[in-house]
Amino acid sequence: MKSTKIGIISLGCPRNLVDSQNILGNLQSKGYTIVDIHNAEVGLVNTCSFIEDAKKESIDAILDLIELKKKGRLKKIIVAGCLPQRYKEAILPHLKEVDAFMGRLSLSDDNAKSYTLSPKHSAYLKISEGCNHHCSFCIIPKIKGRLQSRTVNSIIKEAKRLDAEGKSEINLIGQDISHYGLDIYKRLQLGALLRAISSSLTHVKWLRLLYLHPHHITGDLLRAIANEKRICKYVDLPLQHVNNRVLKAMKRGGNKKKIIQLLSEVRKKIPGVAIRTSLIVGFPGETEKEFEELLSFMKEARFERVGVFRYSREEGTDAYHYPSQLPEKIKEDRFNSIMQAQAEISREFNSGFLGRELEVLIDEKESDGTYLGRLSIDAPEVDGQVYVKAQAQRLNPGEFVKVKIIDTYEYDLVGEVL
Ligand code: SF4
Repeated sequence: MKSTKIGIISLGCPRNLVDSQNILGNLQSKGYTIVDIHNAEVGLVNTCSFIEDAKKESIDAILDLIELKKKGRLKKIIVAGCLPQRYKEAILPHLKEVDAFMGRLSLSDDNAKSYTLSPKHSAYLKISEGCNHHCSFCIIPKIKGRLQSRTVNSIIKEAKRLDAEGKSEINLIGQDISHYGLDIYKRLQLGALLRAISSSLTHVKWLRLLYLHPHHITGDLLRAIANEKRICKYVDLPLQHVNNRVLKAMKRGGNKKKIIQLLSEVRKKIPGVAIRTSLIVGFPGETEKEFEELLSFMKEARFERVGVFRYSREEGTDAYHYPSQLPEKIKEDRFNSIMQAQAEISREFNSGFLGRELEVLIDEKESDGTYLGRLSIDAPEVDGQVYVKAQAQRLNPGEFVKVKIIDTYEYDLVGEVL
């Protein structure tokens, strides 16, 4: 019997990508053939609705599929992910051409049977789903529910499978992985989990942690990151803001003093660490003075990597109802100021690599004699890249090579393979 050909468009963050992989894995095990969206009979969009831009991108992707269906090139359309979960009632009447809507995926051991969408040599492994926090700007807890950790055994099983497949890198993800284990083991278990994963691997060289909440970083976790050779010395710590009033309005917990202490502890306990953070500008009521405080803090803290977001007013969140929502123009100006300051910091940080010999993971071929790769302090898709020149040598994605850095830019580096 001819199997149905299904194509998928995955939008949003790496966590959504993992969900997409799991959907594909399940479909494949049910006999569907996975193809490029342009050769598909059934088109599936895994949507994101975390912020306004993501919603727009999701709606555009659905409309593109509807066009394909109208032209007779697709038979069916399925829309999955948080957009239908959040807005099903509102969007359903307007998207009559969509054949099925799927909401949140449950986190089960079955998810381990994935069909990977990320580059073959790099994998995302979801260790938990949901979040116990109630940040006032964030809709995730309402969409994904409270923290649900996977068991250590199930995670190790999946890590071993990825290792046996020959992966070079595993990125551990979840909404807040520093909370890992609290629900099922009644204590913070990330440090212990990392040691267990690390000792179960033979091939994977880089194990990366994505999204650690600043208030659950234990001494044990820092020791695990510092001492386990496979764990990238890369700490992704979304701070969102540093002004105490704004932090309180964001319901982030903690305060500026604690943040400063934490950053100094992370730098002291993990030599050579690169800290990534994300910041929100233009939160309701953020005054010019509060923004300036954030900006000068950022300049002093000299984060190696920063992601900046303009506050997005999301229905269903507490901050949606806050007074003093700021005009887009102010958000844009603050975004530009902070990005400009960070570009300078990043340029200076990168210039320190000039002439150094560094290990690079090759991701893909760029053109003849040039490849794109990353340092261990660069997460896939979000951080900088290394343009690797290798005239006389053929390199393969997933390969680790020694590279001498010969030029540096704001976000990227150029090197020659040694
Ligand atoms: S910790 Fe992260 S996922 Fe959880 S509510 Fe806050 S911003 Fe959202």
